[in-house]
Amino acid sequence: MNRRDWLKTAGMAGVAAALPLSSLAATAQDKQGPTTVKVELKRLNLRHTWTTTMSSSTYRDTVHVQYLRDGITGYGEGAPIQRYEITPEQAMAAIATSAGFITAGDPRQFDKLFTQVRGKLGPNQHAAMAAVDIAMLDWWGKKLGVPLYEYFGLDPADAPVTTFSIGIDTPEITRQKTAEAADFPVLKVKVGLKTDKETIEAVRSVTKKPLRVDANEGWTDKEQAIREINWLETQGVEFIEQPMPAHMFDEIKYVRSKVHLPIIADEACTSAAMIPKLREAYDGINVKLDKAGGILESYRWIQIARSLNMKVMLGCMICSSCSCTAAAHLSPLVDYADLDGSLLIANDPYVGGVKVEKGKLILPNEPGLGVRPA
Ligand code: MG
Repeated sequence: MNRRDWLKTAGMAGVAAALPLSSLAATAQDKQGPTTVKVELKRLNLRHTWTTTMSSSTYRDTVHVQYLRDGITGYGEGAPIQRYEITPEQAMAAIATSAGFITAGDPRQFDKLFTQVRGKLGPNQHAAMAAVDIAMLDWWGKKLGVPLYEYFGLDPADAPVTTFSIGIDTPEITRQKTAEAADFPVLKVKVGLKTDKETIEAVRSVTKKPLRVDANEGWTDKEQAIREINWLETQGVEFIEQPMPAHMFDEIKYVRSKVHLPIIADEACTSAAMIPKLREAYDGINVKLDKAGGILESYRWIQIARSLNMKVMLGCMICSSCSCTAAAHLSPLVDYADLDGSLLIANDPYVGGVKVEKGKLILPNEPGLGVRPA
């Protein structure tokens, strides 16, 4: 039995446990040469232990795809999101299982192909889809000889500043992290535990710069959320991201009617179809390639939100510069960027991607993404 047949019969849970960390998933041959999809996990080590309301970790494993066709290699990455209960191993297995289909598809017809690949990968495999989408669009940009921002008709001068994120920590470490972020004109601070005031006061003891705050669904009482948000307004906070659990839609709607700060949906926004409804409770959405399933679907989310006069933030998971750069190519379209995932890690496997100068995103102008292996 070959690998692909075995993957099909083994079932996703068994595959997740047994797959090696690197896997040459499929090869097809035509007159232009081989088309290959290679998928592997890479362990990204965090500079600081990363704590939010959901978890605390010192590393993250993300899924990396190399798509080779016509002698050109496209690179992609997906960072599976714990909250949606997909592990990196499951994402890698889904891509390996679908690799034969992906190599047989025509990347020049990526709109149709991505819809088909999404179906093959299975439900909730958004990060796996992102890895495939990014790799194939990197390939297509290289094939056409244009950077992805240019492919989408965007002006790189419109790229916004990105925030730098401060995860939840002791006041001492929070002060240290804030000092390390001196080059960034705006910070994003994680709250949502019992230490919120200490955290904000620790940041404020170091800097007066504007803050954006992400509660990651941490407040479950609407009156508490109102008190917290109104206090944060006095602390120079620009907006609040996902103050309460995503399912507490009516409560968030109520909170929004009682506060001045804009409220942005992150965990609550998981599909294009739900964006019009979200407008009843939120001022904007946080688009992430790993939630939407890549660059193309994120572009759709952004356009839908724009058509509804909602604010758009472009965020990322803990990831390498491959995924951050992919998102950055769409950043000229958005109001707020939070694309610091690769700045939080110590062993970026790629070079040449998006740069940050005094917070502003500087897009690479090479064809495709502009990243290459380190
Ligand atoms: Mg968030």
